[in-house]
Amino acid sequence: MNYNGHRNGGIVTSVAVAAGVIFFTHDIVATIIATISTFIFALYPDMDIHSTPRKMFLPSGLLAVIALYFFGNHTASIILVGLLIVPLTQKHRGIIHSILGMLIACLAWNNMIGTLSPTTVLNGYLYGSAAIAGYLTHLTLDTHFKLV
Ligand SMILES: [Zn+2]
Repeated sequence: MNYNGHRNGGIVTSVAVAAGVIFFTHDIVATIIATISTFIFALYPDMDIHSTPRKMFLPSGLLAVIALYFFGNHTASIILVGLLIVPLTQKHRGIIHSILGMLIACLAWNNMIGTLSPTTVLNGYLYGSAAIAGYLTHLTLDTHFKLV
């Protein structure tokens, strides 16, 4: 599946996540962050190849790393460095396109967002769950389910 397909799939899943989160939480900020999480992770797996998501996420992500660092949130900045750098070291459709890679990346994302705005919504796993929804959309469109 190409970038446009993943983008469109990400939009559809993000809208579904937004509807679900606003319905169950009535929390507009949580809904916005969850929706963005879903969309980002619908594209994220293709960070393991020269691609539009890599061109989008590397510069913006590195700016966020610098900003987080200077605002004193070193934990979030280190997690984000990992999320940005690890896919660059992997072969295309390797671990980044696997269930294990999804769980690690989405748990890291959940913890990173948690350092920014602690939430008790869905026991604190809202943003990781939203990220998994996007990630699963990507893996489904690639029809590429591997455990590791
Ligand atoms: Zn892919």
